[in-house]
Amino acid sequence: MALLIQKFGGTSVGNVERIQAVAQRIASSKEEGNDLVVVVSAMGDTTDELTALAQTISSNPPQREMDMLLSTGEQVSIALLSIALDKLGVSAVSMTGTQVGIVTESAHGRARILEVKTERLKNLLNEGKVVVVAGFQGTTLSSRGTSEITTLGRGGSDTSGVALAAALGADACEIYTDVPGVLTTDPRKVPEAQLMKEISCDEMLELASLGAAVLHPRAVEIARNYGITLFVRSSWSDQPGTKLTSKSS
Ligand code: ADP
Ligand code: ASP
Ligand code: MG
Repeated sequence: MALLIQKFGGTSVGNVERIQAVAQRIASSKEEGNDLVVVVSAMGDTTDELTALAQTISSNPPQREMDMLLSTGEQVSIALLSIALDKLGVSAVSMTGTQVGIVTESAHGRARILEVKTERLKNLLNEGKVVVVAGFQGTTLSSRGTSEITTLGRGGSDTSGVALAAALGADACEIYTDVPGVLTTDPRKVPEAQLMKEISCDEMLELASLGAAVLHPRAVEIARNYGITLFVRSSWSDQPGTKLTSKSS
């Protein structure tokens, strides 16, 4: 039995059928005896659509309000996925970044995670629940001591997943996405791109600096620094995908 963090990106939860397919995958993994924390992104292009909506009102919206707006995308996904899991008879509970204890810096729109308070998460896991966490968001304490919603920057759900893996000492973090893993280059631009079975975190950071947006660079840094076993895999198949290696893993 393992404790796994599984993160599903926007395309993987892009419509109801895909959410149901993700729920099936989670149910099978739970059935195999794993403890699961699942992190999800907003459905499809929701984050882009919400950004465009704000832009129709102002070309310079307040960052605090953008975080308030964009964080709703992930909140829709966690609720729908938890409903789909419940329908399959899997006991699941959805959690916002704030509820799950993801504490960040105060920089709205690009906040870095400072700490994950794991007590509530651990209690829920002990009860046998699948915990479904909203990616890309956290909470910061304002100067007045009140809490504020923050977001981690575009693509930040990967970082939510890896940070949770580090905080919980998970056995692995699996990033499920719409390509078979990390390829030599973007397969949407270069069809001959080759899947890499293994890549080091340092090599991945180099690829990312050249534009490979398959993983949030901050997620790769955390995986490297904490020796997290990280996989990038397809949501549509059972293929193993790509394993990211770090010195200590
Ligand atoms: P998700 O919504 O699952 O987080 P992203 O869009 O953030 O997915 O990342 C996956 C996308 O990254 C792929 O659809 C692919 O077009 C792009 N990509 C860019 N470079 C690479 C690469 N070297 N290997 C794999 N995918 C890549
Ligand atoms: N929904 C956010 C984005 O589109 C975060 C993520 O998907 O990782 O950037
Ligand atoms: Mg992404």
